[in-house]
Amino acid sequence: MKVTLLVHTPEPERVTVAAALLCYQKGSPEEAWEKAGKESLRNRLFEELVRQGHGSTLEHASFTFGIEGISRACSHQLVRHRIASYNQQSQRYVDVGDPDYFVKPESLGDDDGGFEEVVAATVTYYREQIDRLKDAGKKGEQAQEDARYIIPNAGRTNLIWTTNLRNLLHVVHIRMCTRAQWEIRKMLHLCRRAVAAEFPLIAKYMVVKCHPLAIGYCDEEFRSCGFRPLREKVIPADDACPPGPGYKEEE
Ligand SMILES: Cc1cc2nc3c(=O)[nH]c(=O)nc-3n(C[C@H](O)[C@H](O)[C@H](O)COP(=O)(O)OP(=O)(O)OC[C@H]3O[C@@H](n4cnc5c(N)ncnc54)[C@H](O)[C@@H]3O)c2cc1C
Repeated sequence: MKVTLLVHTPEPERVTVAAALLCYQKGSPEEAWEKAGKESLRNRLFEELVRQGHGSTLEHASFTFGIEGISRACSHQLVRHRIASYNQQSQRYVDVGDPDYFVKPESLGDDDGGFEEVVAATVTYYREQIDRLKDAGKKGEQAQEDARYIIPNAGRTNLIWTTNLRNLLHVVHIRMCTRAQWEIRKMLHLCRRAVAAEFPLIAKYMVVKCHPLAIGYCDEEFRSCGFRPLREKVIPADDACPPGPGYKEEE
């Protein structure tokens, strides 16, 4: 698996902070942009925005990742996150009949109970069906698009994923959790590492949801890994909320 940060908004923290400053001042967008150029102010405000959940400001910063060599099982989990843009290697246009086009989970180990044999048999079947479909007059992707039905979740794939910062943090919060699968967790760990190389302040907040820099407690209730306290330990269920402190019912 390989993850590359292909391209990003040139100054993601600055545009985020400029968007927030614009909300609270009389000045022009250009003035907000200039103010946000001051490093100490920018860094302080950026962290405030993330912590306070002023999420719309984070939508101005965009990141495009190249993701290589994940399984279709993993990519299917990723593309469920709809507030993003994806392009994925096609199994119609690309011939995937190659044992290297399969991801084997490490947990299966060397003594994998026949994984390699099943892959080899799958590839053989795939190749045979392509030949048969071609003999029947189908060409190129017309043969591949039907032969691919035998390719399992283990099939390898490549994607380009563009997401804004708000969604990136959301995806990391929920998919870095131990409740999510190892492969998407590993992929997001690599995304985090790629972001950290250029934007450590942003990577600081690319944490699992129970981390103190996110919600700070576990909301998984019955399936908690036990690493962080459950919500009810942190927030009593009978805590006064609606309509909130200071609200007075009209007579
Ligand atoms: C640990 C884990 C296990 C999972 N297991 C399963 C499973 O077994 N089966 C399964 O089908 N899925 C499963 N999922 C996927 C999950 O149901 C979601 O599809 C996935 O997390 C993407 O949803 P999202 O809200 O995070 O993101 P998005 O769909 O990208 O949405 C982002 C946000 O936009 C808003 N939004 C988007 N669309 C709407 C809408 N139509 N109406 C209102 N608000 C909207 C919501 O605030 C949402 O949180 C699992 C996810 C995780 C993290």
